[in-house]
Amino acid sequence: MREISYNIQQIAEILNIESFELKHPALINSLLIDSRIVISPETSLFFAIPALRDGHEFIAEAYARGIRNFVISKPEYQQNFPDANFLLVPDVQAALQEIGAAHRKKFEMEVIAITGSNGKTIVKEWLYQLLSADFNIVRSPKSFNSQLGVPLSVWQINQENNLGIFEAGISKQGEMQNLAGIIQPTIGILTNIGEAHAEGFTSSAEKLKEKLKLFKGVKLFIYSPEYMHGIAPAELPGEKQFSWSTQTNADLSILFVEPINGKSYVKALYKNEEIECLLPFGDKASVENGIICWAALLAMGYTPEQADLRLERLTAVNMRLELKNGINQCSIIDDSYSADISSLSIALDFLNQQNQHPVKTLILSDLLQTGKADIELYTEIAALLKQKQVNRLIGIGSHISSFAALFELQNTFFESTEEFIQQFPALSFSNETILVKGARRFEFERISKLLTQKVHGTVMEIDLNALASNLKFYKSKLAPGVKVMAMVKAFSYGSGSFEIANLLQYHQVDYLAVAYADEGIALRKAGITLPVMVMSPEPFAFEAILKYKLEPELYNMEILKAFIAFLPETQQAYPVHIKIDTGMHRLGFEEPDLAELLPLLNQTKKIKVVSAFSHLAASEDEKHDEFTGYQLQTYLHLSTALRKSLGYDFIRHISNTSAITRHPEAQLDMVRIGIGLYGYDSGLKDQTGLRTVAVLKTTITQIKNVGPKDTIGYGRWGVLPDGGTTATVKIGYADGYRRSFSNGVGKMLVNGKSAPVIGTIAMDMCMLDVTGLDAKTGDEVIIFNNELTIADLAEQIGTIPYEILTNISQRVKRIYFYE
Ligand SMILES: *Cc1c(COP(=O)(O)O)cnc(C)c1O
Repeated sequence: MREISYNIQQIAEILNIESFELKHPALINSLLIDSRIVISPETSLFFAIPALRDGHEFIAEAYARGIRNFVISKPEYQQNFPDANFLLVPDVQAALQEIGAAHRKKFEMEVIAITGSNGKTIVKEWLYQLLSADFNIVRSPKSFNSQLGVPLSVWQINQENNLGIFEAGISKQGEMQNLAGIIQPTIGILTNIGEAHAEGFTSSAEKLKEKLKLFKGVKLFIYSPEYMHGIAPAELPGEKQFSWSTQTNADLSILFVEPINGKSYVKALYKNEEIECLLPFGDKASVENGIICWAALLAMGYTPEQADLRLERLTAVNMRLELKNGINQCSIIDDSYSADISSLSIALDFLNQQNQHPVKTLILSDLLQTGKADIELYTEIAALLKQKQVNRLIGIGSHISSFAALFELQNTFFESTEEFIQQFPALSFSNETILVKGARRFEFERISKLLTQKVHGTVMEIDLNALASNLKFYKSKLAPGVKVMAMVKAFSYGSGSFEIANLLQYHQVDYLAVAYADEGIALRKAGITLPVMVMSPEPFAFEAILKYKLEPELYNMEILKAFIAFLPETQQAYPVHIKIDTGMHRLGFEEPDLAELLPLLNQTKKIKVVSAFSHLAASEDEKHDEFTGYQLQTYLHLSTALRKSLGYDFIRHISNTSAITRHPEAQLDMVRIGIGLYGYDSGLKDQTGLRTVAVLKTTITQIKNVGPKDTIGYGRWGVLPDGGTTATVKIGYADGYRRSFSNGVGKMLVNGKSAPVIGTIAMDMCMLDVTGLDAKTGDEVIIFNNELTIADLAEQIGTIPYEILTNISQRVKRIYFYE
């Protein structure tokens, strides 16, 4: 039952390290690449991987968290930690891979490896659902499929497992060989080959050949000839092959796919007989993934009847944590992905990032099939809850209940979800953040439903991973040491308040900036401790500014004098920011003001200038590059004068989003990132590095058939000359969908197809022309996403993406996702 441990000497042996100094004996259970996500520090081995920041820089932090075992490539880093074991290798990533490969080698079992351009994760998760009844399966967590993700996935194998399912993803030539050596698959599945992501390759054929290297030596290879262009039959990997196709003869030849009420009925020819299955999905990508799973089941020897029965019960894969508003001022984190200890740890980490409520609560079911003995499992979970400072535990299930004594926090246990639901009113949840995490069998969606405020109609989904990824993108463009101020004014450009700020704080930005004191106060009340600059500090708000430790931007003599006068004599130097106008002509001191400004700043002891900054008027536009250069020079000149006069240093900053990549010389000490965080940068030629953060969607309330003489909506502006079908959708100008989108100017996506607005936009609703689109009541409608972008919408009504985003009114519910 035990998971496999290695002592540190065995690890050193795997890595061919001839001599290292054993500082203390250690048993290794976990491999870590992120110093923040630690479950059991004593048995963890930290790899100092070079990424955006060199992993060696996190050694001290990891050490502080109790980690004593490290794999490093820079010897100088071991000096300050005399009681820790350091394994010195030439290449830390390669070392992680060697350990993964060595671990895998210990197990003789079937291992399915999956690669392809799309669908890897879904096919992996579905095969897990389909095969769980017959096997004890170990699989890649989420989409762990990279050069780092694969060794970490394989590391989870233990003696209990008799099937592994791992995915592999590559971005350039030469990477697959590594992954193949770690996974050592016996069965291979190629999902498909798309045109996307061809960047790291010279051609699609080259990309395909590289991917096929994963399957060298497998017993069975499952593929479609449709994706095998340029590969001769003799070049196909595997002792045996199993093919599927919708176009040509194959082992599984798909005859037709018929949509029925959101499901798909599929008929195929297999061993000269017609067979069928019902896939509980309607969209094209899911149908293809379903067919791949069908092929896999048949290839592995299941009968068509068994396959059909299992496929019918597939469920959608949701790997995202959802953060929603709950009842009684609670925030609910809903995590329906697999209930195991590593994903619990990730979810707890996200819970820990939430500072908006005083109490953090976990509702947790028994964890099943973890490969650990119960006592070990629940001891580990108890330690984890303590470490992550969870305040309240509600355990559901007979296993967790029987270990109640292990948990030192406030706790309540129930035998079943049913019992919890009966007791629900007595549990009085209020003003807490509640993480809901249960194994599928416990049907925790029933609990989430009780806890969550009903969200209907129009919602804006915010992808927190995309936001973090955009932050990372800009950080990678910064010169070393440049700080980041994240602009979260106007409800974070419409995306949210503490939800966004919590994430930014977790990802260690240096500063936040808001427009008004109110916004800053809201952040403080939600537990944000980062320094916050307030750009329009009105005198009536000075008291609150001090109370909540906000830092005002002072932009003219009047406000500066008022603030100094407001500060009590006894006040020690209060941090302020001086705004310099270099050509925007909005707010700020100009050169002639210095004569008065400098002496005043020197006289007073009540304030300290922590930064002086200016704002660029057109950093995104090549046409104005000369002017931008002039602004920068002016800023440098004036800030130098200020610095000389003050006699101390302050943070200098002038760049907004577009300047970061277009004018790297203007990064100075800090940059202020706004719209780029939310996934848009008009100064960026190649937008592929940025991810869409916000998706606005609604649903169809009613479908109507209209004749050629009918008119649609207020003012009778809408007409369909040949008659047709309209869909009424739940978004109007009061939600921020501007009236200027009326009469065909705006378009939305209905089941993936473009549908123009017909007639005028009303306050809470509008109508779309869905003639010929097979739309029905309840269908989802996209107002903007990564296909139909905020930039497209801005263009339609002649505005900028900033306005599209910030217009979305507060009555539109926000849901936050985190993977
Ligand atoms: C809003 C704002 C920014 C951010 O601008 P983006 O173009 O969104 O990056 C930077 N500085 C100041 C002073 C701002 O008001």
